[in-house]
Amino acid sequence: MTNQDIEKKLQKIAYQKTIPFCYQCYREAPTGTCKTCMNDDLMRLLPGSGCEYGHDWIVKELLEESLTPADVSEIFEQMIEDCYGETTNVGFLELCTVSVMKDQDPISWDMAKSEYIDGLEQDGELITFDNGSSYYWVSDIEDYLDEVLEEEP
Ligand SMILES: [Zn+2]
Repeated sequence: MTNQDIEKKLQKIAYQKTIPFCYQCYREAPTGTCKTCMNDDLMRLLPGSGCEYGHDWIVKELLEESLTPADVSEIFEQMIEDCYGETTNVGFLELCTVSVMKDQDPISWDMAKSEYIDGLEQDGELITFDNGSSYYWVSDIEDYLDEVLEEEP
């Protein structure tokens, strides 16, 4: 599944789970046109959550409700430990590799972390819908899509 397919399917779910809503009349308009004022520039109402224009916010809420975002710090730390070991000897001390690296050069650490996460995104392992504020595992998203789209008649 490409990112485009994923976004298309999430958009579809976002529309399925919401109802067109006329904010002017403050009423639902399930047909897509408000019966009171004939307005067809409608918000989407997500029951229990609120109403707003567009669908990106719905995707965001549905994912937040159903999935746990990937912990990118933990993913990166795990990779470092796998590569360099959990502990590193400095002189006669055996120190935690991750803590030493972070403490000694936090800037390089953050740069390497974002490069690594970008790489995972390019490889199609991780996906973001908010320009990198949060990431999800693509496999989690695919499971979610399978689950939700299966409920369809
Ligand atoms: Zn209206």
